[in-house]
Amino acid sequence: MPQAQDLYEILGVPRGASQDEIRKAYLKLAHKYHPDKTGGNKEAEDKLKEINAAYDVLKNPEKREKYDRFGAADGSNPFGGGNPFGGQGGEGFEAPFDDFFDMLFGQQGGRRGGRRAGGGAQPGNDLELRLSLTLKEAAKGAKKKVRFNRNETCGDCNGSGAAAGSQPQTCSECGGSGQIRAAHGFFSVTRPCHRCGGAGKIISNPCKSCGGAGQVKQSREVSVDIPAGVDTGSQLRVTGEGEPGRGGGPRGDLYIAIQVQSDERFRRDGTTILCEVPISFTQAALGDTVRVPTISGEAELKVPAGTQTGAQFRLRGLGMPDLRGYGTGDQIVKVVVETPKKLSKRQKELLKEFQEISDQENYPLYRRFLDSFFGD
Ligand SMILES: [Zn+2]
Ligand SMILES: [Zn+2]
Repeated sequence: MPQAQDLYEILGVPRGASQDEIRKAYLKLAHKYHPDKTGGNKEAEDKLKEINAAYDVLKNPEKREKYDRFGAADGSNPFGGGNPFGGQGGEGFEAPFDDFFDMLFGQQGGRRGGRRAGGGAQPGNDLELRLSLTLKEAAKGAKKKVRFNRNETCGDCNGSGAAAGSQPQTCSECGGSGQIRAAHGFFSVTRPCHRCGGAGKIISNPCKSCGGAGQVKQSREVSVDIPAGVDTGSQLRVTGEGEPGRGGGPRGDLYIAIQVQSDERFRRDGTTILCEVPISFTQAALGDTVRVPTISGEAELKVPAGTQTGAQFRLRGLGMPDLRGYGTGDQIVKVVVETPKKLSKRQKELLKEFQEISDQENYPLYRRFLDSFFGD
């Protein structure tokens, strides 16, 4: 399993680094790990590959922007070290992945969830939504409106949770920290304060609108640009559309988990689209130009004379676009030769006549079969 690491970390630059800084950092590292310097050992070689791959994305402002949107953003990557939300990062994450853009998926453990103990600024919770797309939408990209409920700061108490004219009181048990420190031999353990539940404050006269929570559920609609090429498992982050923070903390983010519906005509394998097209046995024998569906409309396929059932043809560039902008895949058309049924008398006559004037020259496969099994 390839190690997913933050691309900025690999190059040793901050997320806000300029393109020039990224280039300089890359050149320095590429020089350091160059086989001429390292004597070509395997470890250095792998490192150089990693550096090249990271630079390939970050040198290109478009790819970099996509990476910033989909990829391991601050704290969202349980493998990139430094999970600021602590605790459960990466636990239970097993799904194999080989793609920077897939690595957010299935990794909810690293998300901000629940309230952290203690007073002061706290970032808002992240939210996750699932969004189902047709294969066509995934191929073209789409603008989708998503509606969901999220907590908003209560307008009546401005988020304090205390009724008008009253104030939350600092918890006397923990002194407002929300945590109690207890000594156990050599260790000291902190746990959330039982009196205030970790909030650090006690509300004796709760706000009627929010019941003291400081937040109320509200419906929200967000318009999301889905880039072309997404697949089931792709995840989009909409920055700042999660729940509001507390005590001046920033809003959480909204994560949209994409699910691409299966299509009855097309099967997808990465950027390749597979499609089965039935043709008649006369078309297969004589050759023909047939109409085939593609995800971007209709195309024509020249089927040469003497085509066998199961033959595959490649329509270049008519598959799925690559999410990272590395071109567009192909469509593979597999033709299935259909044997006619319910023949009329006249059709039977013609076919019988056809059979009479056919010989083994017309059927090289059959002839080879006879030679190999019954030849000697
Ligand atoms: Zn309120
Ligand atoms: Zn307390």
